Amino acid sequence: MATHTESVQPDPYTPDGLAQLLADEPAYRRDQVAEWLAKGIDDPAEMTNLSKDLRARLAEQMPARPRVLKVSESDGGLTRKVLLECGTAGAAEAVESVLMLYPATGDRSARAGSTARAGRATVCISTQAGCAMGCPFCATGQAGFRRQLTVGETVRQVTVMQRLLAGSDGAGELGSAGLPDGVPDYVTNVVFMGMGEPLANLDVTLEAVRWLHGPFGLSARSITVSTIGLVPGIVKLAELDLPITLAISLHAPDDDLRDDLVPANRQHPLAEVFGAARHYLQSTGRRVSFEYVMIDGVNTTLEQAASLRQLLATHMPSGSAHVNLIPMNPTPAVPWTAPSISDQRAFARVLDDGGISTTIRANRGNDIDAACGQLYANYQMASGRMLPAAVGAADRIAQR
Ligand code: SF4
Repeated sequence: MATHTESVQPDPYTPDGLAQLLADEPAYRRDQVAEWLAKGIDDPAEMTNLSKDLRARLAEQMPARPRVLKVSESDGGLTRKVLLECGTAGAAEAVESVLMLYPATGDRSARAGSTARAGRATVCISTQAGCAMGCPFCATGQAGFRRQLTVGETVRQVTVMQRLLAGSDGAGELGSAGLPDGVPDYVTNVVFMGMGEPLANLDVTLEAVRWLHGPFGLSARSITVSTIGLVPGIVKLAELDLPITLAISLHAPDDDLRDDLVPANRQHPLAEVFGAARHYLQSTGRRVSFEYVMIDGVNTTLEQAASLRQLLATHMPSGSAHVNLIPMNPTPAVPWTAPSISDQRAFARVLDDGGISTTIRANRGNDIDAACGQLYANYQMASGRMLPAAVGAADRIAQR
């Protein structure tokens, strides 16, 4: 049988990769290249303080800039989704990132205590092409796992958006920036909440967090890593010793239902996930966020709200948890929808009344499928076809 050996290009977004690329150069060259990359300049031709020869060599040896396949805008330009092609021919994969802009509100010069907020530009990034976790409400999971992204492929989703914000997209491939008033011209927050389970690509996620906090210069508090509760990964994340925000997707108030909605619960049941959440809280001092996708007729009765309140009160110290309720985005291949606004509010009230800080997340980019696991899938899959795992889970839940 013929064998095929693929040469792997060093990843300049990792210290080892940078050292390998610049092995024959003086040490200060690493800082120079790292500074360019952090500014979003990833084409060696634009790294003007390097010699011409070195620029030419790097152009051959560095992984190519991801190709922009598609840009979609919604919410009046406040949400932008970019579909990127990463990797070289034969191993190219489409991955998605979403830029969510939040204009500044109120008078920022007003006295202390005013509710004014600075503008934010948040990028939601993917860590895997596809996902192996198989959550039945999520089309990405059921389209299957294709491959892990590299550190460079992960953080370049951020630098692509940085170029869009800074208006330095020379080729105009990202469309016209046309930014609304009151939004910053740089990335302020990054959430690991796109395609894939970040803690199933653990080393890359940890390295990407280090890069975003180090060379890229984001404060740790501006970085959020979302997981469905892979316990060993949460422990490793705590060892980073950075106060990044940990968001754990619960989606159900008990193990029975969670086994169906988040199959990884069979390996890491709720008690174990909460043990890891408490460990994270103790190690970092950071309040943990719990995500809960609201699926009508499945996990949003008032009894389930009371069970969720009880679960959090039992497992987390008072005031140390925040719940983000996420109304399910409509997905053509999944037989579920979000509950009515009044049902969402009633559910949130039960938690609030129990002293649990709760928000209902405004869904961004419904018309461009901008939610965890709903991005690539809708681009790729024929609409109207129900996903088998979704149908199976819906049947099991209906029969309870
Ligand atoms: S919800 Fe997230 S973890 Fe679950 S299958 Fe989808 S992408 Fe994977």
